[in-house]
Amino acid sequence: MLLQLLFLAIALVVLFVFFGLIERLWPSIPSQRRFRRGLTTDITWFFWDPLVNRPVTVFTVAVFAVLVAVIAGAGMSGSAIRAWLDRETIFNSQPPWLQAIQLIVLVDLIGYWSHRFFHEVGVLWRIHAVHHSSETLDWLSSVRVHPLNEIGQRMAQALPFLLLGYSPGLLAAVVPLLTLYAIGLHANVSWDFGPLRKVIASPRFHRWHHTSELEGLDKNYSGLLPVWDILFRTYYMPVGRVPAEFGVLGETVPEGLFRQLLYPLRRRPSAAVRG
Ligand SMILES: [Zn+2]
Repeated sequence: MLLQLLFLAIALVVLFVFFGLIERLWPSIPSQRRFRRGLTTDITWFFWDPLVNRPVTVFTVAVFAVLVAVIAGAGMSGSAIRAWLDRETIFNSQPPWLQAIQLIVLVDLIGYWSHRFFHEVGVLWRIHAVHHSSETLDWLSSVRVHPLNEIGQRMAQALPFLLLGYSPGLLAAVVPLLTLYAIGLHANVSWDFGPLRKVIASPRFHRWHHTSELEGLDKNYSGLLPVWDILFRTYYMPVGRVPAEFGVLGETVPEGLFRQLLYPLRRRPSAAVRG
């Protein structure tokens, strides 16, 4: 535990310096401060995510994976469930690189819809609003994710593919890669990747997702491939402009880890406009 805390503290400093540099060289909002409101809250989330969110999520996904295996007829013993997960299917018989490409595309598609549900279903939005509550958006804002949000999205992204028979090892590698990519998407950076702007999600693309400006509400849900937003008509990338306002429109999410953990449970349903 102490070693893990030390590793996370070093990672925080390294990332702070790394993103501090690129956010200074290619800023989306040049006047944005690095020592900004919500920094302490986000630093607490930075430690909370790997120490609490991740193990709780992995445990929950594992429990549901076992349930899926048992329902699918695997049997109750550990070895029977492991054999079911490793059973030969048309999916895991493919070369690993081909499985990896399919998983990246399909996990991102599921990610698009689960993310969209978190915006469009009232009770889910109150959970996801915590992630959108940063009013100064930078790389560190990405860690502000409620555990129920994390569990819901990871279950949606893992269970269908275990049921289909993709390699659990490859799946376990793809999902964290997409999570890591999300850190860069939140950075205060103006990059849109030029001719690839409709191919790969960029910081500018995702910063429009986080804006509280009306024109960008409920847009750009994709985590990696904007093609889903183009296909389902939620793509938004105005030429030559970047968003300036962030946060949740019409409601106030409190600062502080524990108040944010309780926020979805305490708040009464309302027809608040989302940001
Ligand atoms: Zn969102």
